[in-house]
Amino acid sequence: MNPLYTACKPIRRKDSYHGAALAVPKNRRWTHAFRRCGCPILAASFTARVVILILIVTLASAVLAQSPPTSYTVSLASPEQHLVEVQIILPAGAAQRELQLPVWNALYQVRDFAQYVNWVRAKDRSGRELTVRESDKSRWQIQHAENGVIVEYQIYADSPGPFGAQLSSHHAFFNLAQILMYPVDDRNAAMHLRFSQVPEGWHIATPLTVSSGGEFDASGYDRLVDSPVEIGNFQESDFDEAGGHFRVVVDADSADYDMAKIVDALHKIVTAATSWMNDRPFDTYMFLYHFPRGPAGGGMEHAYSTAIDINADVMKQTLDALTSVTSHEFFHLWNVKRIRPQTLEPVDYTKENYTRALWFSEGVTSTAEGTIQLRAGLVDENQFLFRLGAEITELERRPAHLTQSAEESSLDAWLEGSAYYRRPERSISYYNKGELLGVMLDLAVREASHDSASLREVLQWMNTNYAKKGRFFDDSNGVREAAEAVSHADLGPFFTKYVAGTEEIPWNDFLRSVGLRVVQVMNAVPDAGFAASRNFDGPMLVGAVTPGSEAERAGLQVGDTILEMQGKPAGQESRQELARLSPGNTLTLKVRSRRAGERELKWKVGSRQETSYEVKDLDQVTAEQRARRAAWLKGETQGAANAASGAAGTGAAAR
Ligand SMILES: [Zn+2]
Repeated sequence: MNPLYTACKPIRRKDSYHGAALAVPKNRRWTHAFRRCGCPILAASFTARVVILILIVTLASAVLAQSPPTSYTVSLASPEQHLVEVQIILPAGAAQRELQLPVWNALYQVRDFAQYVNWVRAKDRSGRELTVRESDKSRWQIQHAENGVIVEYQIYADSPGPFGAQLSSHHAFFNLAQILMYPVDDRNAAMHLRFSQVPEGWHIATPLTVSSGGEFDASGYDRLVDSPVEIGNFQESDFDEAGGHFRVVVDADSADYDMAKIVDALHKIVTAATSWMNDRPFDTYMFLYHFPRGPAGGGMEHAYSTAIDINADVMKQTLDALTSVTSHEFFHLWNVKRIRPQTLEPVDYTKENYTRALWFSEGVTSTAEGTIQLRAGLVDENQFLFRLGAEITELERRPAHLTQSAEESSLDAWLEGSAYYRRPERSISYYNKGELLGVMLDLAVREASHDSASLREVLQWMNTNYAKKGRFFDDSNGVREAAEAVSHADLGPFFTKYVAGTEEIPWNDFLRSVGLRVVQVMNAVPDAGFAASRNFDGPMLVGAVTPGSEAERAGLQVGDTILEMQGKPAGQESRQELARLSPGNTLTLKVRSRRAGERELKWKVGSRQETSYEVKDLDQVTAEQRARRAAWLKGETQGAANAASGAAGTGAAAR
């Protein structure tokens, strides 16, 4: 609700799996932006300012009165066929108009949504047909549109999950950028949206502003498409916390979840995050959940909402997946939605948007996820340190950590749809290394500032100096600027070596200040004989089969799609499914390939030696290190506590 922010667009969040014995999912996705208004009024005298202001207000009113919004009607007449019909009414204007359908949205991947457009036609206000000329695969030109034009098209939508758009007999869920074209010359115009032929009994949930009659308004296309829409038979439970209003919308079988427990956890997450950032830049926020029985997993952030999918079986066992993904997505409302890199602004819907900042926008959001969970009491110190060790293990096991930097991994996000690219020798994850960089930067800032600043101050500084001013930061340089501003120290080497470079991170040098160290452990681990990975919530694909393994003898092949593991749909829970196996256990997979078709394979799991990294106490942990660790785990500085005990300013001596 900050008027400085006029537009928001989606970036994404995703789940990427990185291979251990089996590839494993991690989380992430993304978001979008705003624009700053230049203000000539500041230079004028007071009287002149008043006059200018009145003029501007008058002109603005006149413009608003004159230009009707671009108006969208989305028809849900054919849910069984997954066919959506869209009508766009463009107001009078230029004689030639162009409409563009985005080529990417919600994932940093070009997905060419135009492939699903069956036909496009146009007519003028009197019903006379106008010629529609396709100018590239995602753009259409209409002539003689000066008196306004009505464009209609049909688009197929059956991509489930938080990164997709789907109309089915069960429900509709839309990331609107995947079904709505925008007027190329008027993307920032007011937009109006309505849905027609909504099946009886279905309701609409969206963070969009409701206008009269159950229709919706947005200040521009970017804001419109940053607002997911769920239409169906969902349940809703609202609550107030930290001065804000929260909507909780769940589309799932009521036997698969406990709404009271979800709401209880959300109270804690909201409190932990808003108190950590000392900010709540919205009045209303919507949590939208799907708990499908089949494959699921992932969340997508938006400026005023998040959409999250979690497998129903996982939900029945534990709330851990929900609380971790939700903590991550909720923090995105700051990091990437409002604290936003310049390289993602303005969003270019026609091609890849290259940014070096995803290690921060996604990875450090995962760092914040950990802190929020600690502050909320949803994880304890042991669980936090276990996860830290697992993240270090994941990075160290990927040979590409010596060849691809965190910045390069960010740039290469657009390759993540490729199974080859996801191989450990080809790429690292900017989620994984970014999360670790967030932890190490936190410790480095604490050290450099003698415990008077931390990652919290870095993020708050960026919120104050960028987000609140409607400015965007200069990728890694902007993060460094903030870290140096709050620590009053030169952090150049940190960014050169570990963010832009591929030097090994000296974990123990960072962790010593909080009385911790990393130890390497050689373990005999179960070895299923293959590696597999998923692209976000896509299918799980076999990327490698160990030569001579039982998996190879059973007939598993590179490129096979894993449909089921141990009788359960392959998805985010498959990693845990594999982790539960011991050498000698039987693994059962249902797989499919183009050549061999669908088949069930069984074999006995073997074992191999593998290095893991664990985060442990130093042999001697001093009282000072313990105090620092306690502050670090709260995400707070220790400076105030030190001052109270008369120890301020001595923090550096013990290091
Ligand atoms: Zn994310």
